[in-house]
Amino acid sequence: MNARITILFPLSPDCNWQGLTVKITRITAFQVDLPLREGSYNWSGGKSVSVFDSTIVRVETDAGIVGHGEVCPLGPFYLPAYGGGVRSGLRELGPHLIGSDPTALGQLNRLMDAALKGHPYVKSGIDIACWDILGQVAGQPICQLLGGRYGEDFVLYRAISQQSPEEMAAKVQGYRDEGYRRFQLKVGGDPDVDIARIHAVAEKLQPGDKLIADANTGWLMHEAARVVRGVRDVDVYIEQPCLSYEECLSIRRRTDHPFVMDESIDGMKELLRGHADGAMDVVNIKISKFGGLTKARQARDLCASLGIAMTIEDSWGGDVTTAAIAHLAHSTPTDLLFTSTDFNSYGTVSTADGAPQRKQGRLSASTDPGLGVSPKMDVLGEPVLEVV
Ligand code: MG
Repeated sequence: MNARITILFPLSPDCNWQGLTVKITRITAFQVDLPLREGSYNWSGGKSVSVFDSTIVRVETDAGIVGHGEVCPLGPFYLPAYGGGVRSGLRELGPHLIGSDPTALGQLNRLMDAALKGHPYVKSGIDIACWDILGQVAGQPICQLLGGRYGEDFVLYRAISQQSPEEMAAKVQGYRDEGYRRFQLKVGGDPDVDIARIHAVAEKLQPGDKLIADANTGWLMHEAARVVRGVRDVDVYIEQPCLSYEECLSIRRRTDHPFVMDESIDGMKELLRGHADGAMDVVNIKISKFGGLTKARQARDLCASLGIAMTIEDSWGGDVTTAAIAHLAHSTPTDLLFTSTDFNSYGTVSTADGAPQRKQGRLSASTDPGLGVSPKMDVLGEPVLEVV
């Protein structure tokens, strides 16, 4: 009842929202470089990024309410996405959205899909910004609108950039001392070195810790087969060992390690196929991979119904992305949330006030309406595109 009253009477005296009159009047985008605290982030196939190219999207309305979103690909060689592509896509998509209702998220997503086929990552920032607007209109944090908050906080993993076995073991020790209890090793390199990496790190773990070996599509099947045999006695999850779904499924059927699918699962059809094949125990729901909070939430709810545990995250990002992840993760049933991530602690640049900050390897979503963040306009600088 309270929620309904809140919706009928907007909080802001400047707001003229009466259920149907909020309209998008302007979309702007800002490009921000996000350098890594550790210097570089390395994963399979020699791929490496030292400065991430992020785009922060700002959606303005005739009600005076402003929402923000962020899209930050993991470089141009991870998923079919790149930083410049976000901005190009927004130039194409933006004019179709002026005048539409940002609080009607289902309709907005259908409109985006009709105006621009595919390119889900382009749409993600707009979708997140519109959830931010909806939350402010409703006077509720997004996690409440996504199903409600589970518990005080939720568990994070730390990604361990690909280095020598000894260096990775030392990193795990260090991050463990900071409070993390889940560690995702970037493997997918030479199988013999990867076997050594997994063994070296496993020696640093304590009861209750969890270890994930993420090959990021980097092994051929014969290499993956050797690695899973070489670490047979280690308590480790195997994540996306090979490039294709079929190759991963083949390895899945040869190992009794718990199994995570990531890059191969980017939509509802793939999720349903994976479930039907028994292809994974855990799936990674990245917000921009699915096209925004609306579709990531749909995937999250399907996984919850099917009993598939999830890592809730994105490809990369800063404060705004971390806030969006936190709302989706915190509204995911605790037993189904395998882990999540706090990308804003990996970089050296803060782009917004109010973003959640990790405590002892755990995070919680803001209790303020919407995303709960205020972008730092001095950090964002001048917009690189404007659609009115
Ligand atoms: Mg992964």
